[in-house]
Amino acid sequence: MNISIVSPGTYTYGSLVLGGVLKKRGHTVTVTHRLRSGGEVTLLSLFSTGQLLDPRIRDFVKTLPTVYVGGPVGFTPEIVLDELDVDAVVVGEGEDVVASLVEDGPSDDLAGVAFVEGDEIVKTRSRPVDNLDHPIPLIPEDLSSQNVRGANVYIETHRGCLGACTFCQVPRFFGRTIRSRSLENILAEVRELKRAGVRRVAVSGGTGSLFGYGKDVNKGAFIELVRALSEILGPRNLSVPDMRVDFVDQEILEAIRNYTIGWVFFGIESGSQKMLNAMRKGVTVEKNLEAVELARSCGVKVGGSFIVAYPGETQEDYDATLEFMEDAMLDDVFSSVAEPIPGTPLARLALDYPREENLIYREHKGEYRALKLSEAEARCFNLMLHGQNCKLVPRLVNDAMYQSFLEEARVQGRDIKRVMGLLEKYKDVIV
Ligand code: SF4
Repeated sequence: MNISIVSPGTYTYGSLVLGGVLKKRGHTVTVTHRLRSGGEVTLLSLFSTGQLLDPRIRDFVKTLPTVYVGGPVGFTPEIVLDELDVDAVVVGEGEDVVASLVEDGPSDDLAGVAFVEGDEIVKTRSRPVDNLDHPIPLIPEDLSSQNVRGANVYIETHRGCLGACTFCQVPRFFGRTIRSRSLENILAEVRELKRAGVRRVAVSGGTGSLFGYGKDVNKGAFIELVRALSEILGPRNLSVPDMRVDFVDQEILEAIRNYTIGWVFFGIESGSQKMLNAMRKGVTVEKNLEAVELARSCGVKVGGSFIVAYPGETQEDYDATLEFMEDAMLDDVFSSVAEPIPGTPLARLALDYPREENLIYREHKGEYRALKLSEAEARCFNLMLHGQNCKLVPRLVNDAMYQSFLEEARVQGRDIKRVMGLLEKYKDVIV
């Protein structure tokens, strides 16, 4: 069968893996990040709620004879089936489902799909994949020219997270038990990526150091992983960015320093303990600061990501975040307005929260009032500016940087209002 996999804008790792699975079954498969398809069947890989609302994607699917959607948006298939003109949605992990789906179509005997039959949505229970080792992914020729936060591609080493953060899809989509690929399977893939011209590889997932985690913590598995990957790629081409502050220690951080580009990104989220508790982050403000200091003492650079305008965030909570940044002096800062991704507890919370108190809709009347921002956008923008002042060597914010921060805050505000609109439309299916 002739199959096109379309991963709009960016090659998602999942799209490459499914390409490899289908190729091994004997199908002719192409993968593209453009909205183009010449296949009898098209698989559309969507990772963000915003993509569901993108008019180019909505128009594109109407032109296709048979199209199935997979990726994180599949977590709420009712929304996908109603918003997009598609034949079925893969509800969970795709590797064990995709071959039967393209060969035989969706049916209520196939686990992990949703489709419309008559006036009803049929949704079958998804099953987590037992063995995460998979065939070599399908590697498109232009993958080496892709740049996602400095890497050509993000690879997956394990699934699941022990955390339960309310804003995050990972533990809901993949569960709270850690399942890891074998080291051999990962290394074979990375050798093949390198042969195909890929230079920079990042390890994706909520917490890289959970690789190999079983009944007992096995940090040796993570250290062996980065050492072996670094031998293939060279440390300057490997990053393992995302870490939970409570799953790093000196040994792990030293391995990050020795075998990778030497950066970690902690999801700090807030400097207010009240907000960390509300987000069910499972850490304290002190632990966050301790981890930053430990990383720095090990010679590792530290980026921190923060969430503003989470329901219930007061001015005092926000000020505590600014103070945290002054204490932590991070090397880089990411600022996000809380995004209520469908299927997460935050989505329900945002829906139930009184609209007049939601900072995404409240007009900012402070320092930046001339810019006509919402309070959420103003906090996001201000945090980006503050991040530059709180570096070990403060950076002057020039006009171009100021404008790009402003634009970024506005885009986030606009996108989250759209997501809120979608949630309101489907409030009965959001649990
Ligand atoms: S620790 Fe990271 S991956 Fe895990 S639930 Fe929290 S945000 Fe998600």
